[in-house]
Amino acid sequence: MGSEAELAQVADEVRGCTRCPLAARRTIAVPGEGNLLSDVLLVGEGPGAREDATGRPFVGPAGQLLSELLGAIGWARADVFITNVVKCRPPGNRDPEPEEITACSGYLDRQERSLDPAVVVTLGRHSLQRYLPGARIGAVHGGLRRAYSGQHVFPMYHPAAALHQASLRETLFRDIRGLPAALLAARQAIEDERMAAVQAVKAVAPVDDDVAPADDTEQMTLFQEQ
Ligand code: URA
Ligand code: SF4
Repeated sequence: MGSEAELAQVADEVRGCTRCPLAARRTIAVPGEGNLLSDVLLVGEGPGAREDATGRPFVGPAGQLLSELLGAIGWARADVFITNVVKCRPPGNRDPEPEEITACSGYLDRQERSLDPAVVVTLGRHSLQRYLPGARIGAVHGGLRRAYSGQHVFPMYHPAAALHQASLRETLFRDIRGLPAALLAARQAIEDERMAAVQAVKAVAPVDDDVAPADDTEQMTLFQEQ
């Protein structure tokens, strides 16, 4: 569940950010947008020309394909939250530099903490590397993976790649059809872990509801001694 105030705060900071050289050539920074209650966070690479002009993520040709992909599983943009690894457009749509990704990562960290999604869908290599360093997109796309950070990650090719390489279109549609089941699996895994954690706490500290907490008296003793 998203904290609206924190996400709005991140967006404000992003719009005024000068932490990396991308600030100098952007028109409008693109913090991200979507459903604050969503369990699904989509992370792309960085704004393109149209995103830079409007301040909104995935509103150009790649965004059009992304909407079609979501539509194929009965979802809409408004059902998910969409953002990027870097929030400002790399000139000429070049790849973001590692230093730029590092400079920007704190914003995505905070968006993630605030949204606490069950699944992060990575779109393209740079997003994939953040969660699964060293993973090859060809090997992991379309499956649910676990990042070291604990996140459940569903890697996909970048929609823009399918605009240049027609065969990837098929792959993208095939992959996204697996996303609803992956989301259910991730939710189940999270719930199972929560239950296991509760059981573990009960095992070391059995709860007896009939007995008043023993440390009431301790607190008083400490207080009186002062
Ligand atoms: N490509 C991206 O990676 N992100 C956008 O927001 C648009 C295109
Ligand atoms: Fe700041 Fe990120 Fe934009 Fe760089 S890309 S200026 S770190 S918001």
